[in-house]
Amino acid sequence: MITIKNKKNGPGLKSAIEEISGVDISVCFQCKKCSSGCPVGKLAKTRPSEIMRSLHLGAGDELLASDLVWMCASCETCSARCPMGIDVAAVMDALRRLAIERGAPKPEGNVPLFNRAFLKTVETFGRSYEIGMITAYKLGTGKLMNDTEKFPAMLKKGKIALLPPKGGDKQTVKRIFKKIKESRGPKA
Ligand code: SF4
Ligand code: SF4
Repeated sequence: MITIKNKKNGPGLKSAIEEISGVDISVCFQCKKCSSGCPVGKLAKTRPSEIMRSLHLGAGDELLASDLVWMCASCETCSARCPMGIDVAAVMDALRRLAIERGAPKPEGNVPLFNRAFLKTVETFGRSYEIGMITAYKLGTGKLMNDTEKFPAMLKKGKIALLPPKGGDKQTVKRIFKKIKESRGPKA
């Protein structure tokens, strides 16, 4: 549940999110199809439809600290299910962007760390590289040796690859990251 704190103190996030995402939040009629399909909705304290409703009701920066903002896997199921064609995943992206830009408090746990580790490997290798991501994540948690007993079995089953992925256009991916960082300023 989201408590809207600063409704009287400002315009809320709605217009900023609409500008970044290109989404018209007002057309959401709360059917909750986005929430029922969200793979992380059951794990998070917040559902995508609640985010939409809160934005509509004038929520401010308190929304940026919602756990779903960081747990969202960008799978786009919500966008695909919405009968109004609302790109809910783009709203989630916009919330994450504003959360970083405005230095919003991070939710408990290591979700932001996981996000950073994932993006860093994509920036470095041009694609996702699980071992690089796991190593960066575990270094960040300070628990490098946790769960290492699972590693040989995952390797044997081909669930993770030892070497970084080949192919892809690394330079283009790097350029995209550079552009995003420049557009967002030093906090990105
Ligand atoms: S599926 Fe679309 S219309 Fe329904 S609650 Fe989610 S965003 Fe709103
Ligand atoms: S994009 Fe995010 S909010 Fe939407 S269904 Fe996937 S995990 Fe849930």
